[in-house]
Amino acid sequence: MTISVEPFTKGSHHIGARIAGPGGRSFTVETESNHALDGSATPWLSATLPVAMKLGTTLRLRGATDSVALDNARRAQQILSGWYPRHYRPVEVEVEAQRLPETTPASGIGCFFSGGVDSFYSAVTQHDRITHLVFVHGYDIRPDDEELGRLALDSARKAAAELGKPLIEIRTTLRSDFADPMRVPWDHVYHGPALAHVAAALSSHVGTVIVPSSDTYETLEPWGSHPDLDPCWSTSSVTLEHRELDHNRKQKTFRIVESPVAMNHLRVCWENKGGGLNCERCFKCFRTRLHIDLAGGRCATLPNPIDPDTVRRMYINPSRRGLLRKSLVEMDEHGYDAPELEQAIKSAIRRSYLLQFFVR
Ligand SMILES: [Zn+2]
Repeated sequence: MTISVEPFTKGSHHIGARIAGPGGRSFTVETESNHALDGSATPWLSATLPVAMKLGTTLRLRGATDSVALDNARRAQQILSGWYPRHYRPVEVEVEAQRLPETTPASGIGCFFSGGVDSFYSAVTQHDRITHLVFVHGYDIRPDDEELGRLALDSARKAAAELGKPLIEIRTTLRSDFADPMRVPWDHVYHGPALAHVAAALSSHVGTVIVPSSDTYETLEPWGSHPDLDPCWSTSSVTLEHRELDHNRKQKTFRIVESPVAMNHLRVCWENKGGGLNCERCFKCFRTRLHIDLAGGRCATLPNPIDPDTVRRMYINPSRRGLLRKSLVEMDEHGYDAPELEQAIKSAIRRSYLLQFFVR
């Protein structure tokens, strides 16, 4: 059994791959940008290897593939199979031709930029190093969600312009047309390899790409983007750096509150009920707004005060219950006096014990 990947290009700014899997299943995936992309097989290595590992099949890349990327991918396989031995096993990778290492990688330093707390923190604190910000439509925003895509892109363009950095804009169907149908879990496995696909495709512009961490050293666990795993998707021309594990989300929010650009364009919401950048009703919007309040900041994209009734009714899964308790501690630490909100948080915690037995 094999997964066979045939790369193609439609001009310099548009790459794709026809992927033939076991059982006659086939997929066509496309990635396009406002910048030129690498048309070799290299960007498709991280994009397809986790699926081959899940199926336990040989991966055949029908194009020239960077030899350093192939070496590094062996370590990526060891890590993924070590974390998830029942679901991911090491597989053979066959390539049509090995491409020799690039002698001089591009001098640019990119940083993935969704407009959230982690990416703004990296963009602000590493401002002097970073030469490009990279926005992707097709990962946290579905490719067919044109309205949110436009809104988020427009906001990222304005933020990049205010930060004085060119924005590399990517549109891809990799997740929707391949990873999701193949049921590779986005959070625990695929989002890191998916970002690595984009990084490798940008080899003519950036020699390093920063992946802003959503984790800290204290809370690290197996996760699709991880300081051990991300560098294993590096090629001879693009090195991936997983950064900023020494600050937690509250500390990062406190830092970006000082940045007017961040406070004008922050986008943290993945639910986007109501067609705005942030719904102001979900857990993530609540946590971010609370931290901004504790820091004494004001944010144009989370303009309304926290509504205790909304917090009381919020759906809290068990993994977030601890963070709600932490919110109470943080409010106490900062002398944030809001008795009604405190009661609402306690009520949401109690309610979450009942709701965990129901499918949302
Ligand atoms: Zn929200």
